[in-house]
Amino acid sequence: LKKIGILTSGGDSQGMNSAIRSVVKTGINNGFEMIGIKRGYKGLMENDFSKLELKDVGDILYRGGTFLQSARSEEFKTEHGQLKAINNLKKAEIDYLVVIGGDGSYRGADALGKRGIKTYGLPGTIDNDIPLTDYTIGFDTTLNVVTDAIGNLRDTMSSHERVSVIEVMGRNAGDIALQAGISSGVDAILIPELEWDITKVSNRLKHGFEEGKTHSIVMVAEGAGKAEDIATLIREHTDLDTRSTVLGHIQRGGTPSAFDRIFTSRMGHEVINLIKQDISGVALGMEKNKITYHTFDEIFKSKDVFDKKLYEIFEDLV
Ligand code: ATP
Repeated sequence: LKKIGILTSGGDSQGMNSAIRSVVKTGINNGFEMIGIKRGYKGLMENDFSKLELKDVGDILYRGGTFLQSARSEEFKTEHGQLKAINNLKKAEIDYLVVIGGDGSYRGADALGKRGIKTYGLPGTIDNDIPLTDYTIGFDTTLNVVTDAIGNLRDTMSSHERVSVIEVMGRNAGDIALQAGISSGVDAILIPELEWDITKVSNRLKHGFEEGKTHSIVMVAEGAGKAEDIATLIREHTDLDTRSTVLGHIQRGGTPSAFDRIFTSRMGHEVINLIKQDISGVALGMEKNKITYHTFDEIFKSKDVFDKKLYEIFEDLV
């Protein structure tokens, strides 16, 4: 029986459990033995392996987070750490390794690949910042969580005629801010991909209140600025009452959306398919509603494309 190891690495995201479940079930049902590795590359170096049966991935489809747990490891970036990991994989006779994580985790998988291990990446991050895939695992769920949270804020903000400045995650990417901003009908979106002008934003808000609005919402991507600073600037420019909210870690939680569950189910199927064909050193994603794969090098050489058109669409909605 050939063995497939699986781990989750870097920041967690909703849908990681669903991805593990899909890879493990599809693997077992196609005659592979599945090995779970705890706490990402840390557990890989520390030999924290256990065999996974079908029952071990029961009841996890709808749970956020990752039952294999995730970690970051500086040691794994060193040759010493990687050789330790490879030694453990060889001893356990693991033939293939599936890594669910973000860009850093892909670099780790690629490093193992260059040392002869057959590795596969699944894009696990809420930030949607991985090239050559339209979505990453957890992104859609995060959009729903943020949209719900903004709905709650809107209720209280309109009672007090306030401007609410809301900071969302995304690292250097504005995808969460832009897409959750559109789904929430906010008044301005500040993202790192595009320059923003506080005078323009302030004038738009002032005009809105003059026209009878009872509240306004400004969405800020963490890569574009701090909610508190922007709230202060708007107050200075408009005299409007502002409040800032950092949504923080609630964005990483919650039951995965139907989209994330289906997306991960499809990728689990495809990764087992690739293993059966002995194609390795690749990461999977979705492009134009098809599950696709690219080599790690192709992904590292590509830039995550920002959807400018979507921002134009938003600008016509304010
Ligand atoms: P997220 O986008 O959610 O932060 P990530 O996978 O990018 O996820 P990182 O902390 O960057 O998170 O990477 C996870 C782990 O991958 C690191 O702790 C490290 O062990 C390993 N890793 C990162 N970069 C490299 C690299 N260049 N070479 C080898 N391993 C790496």
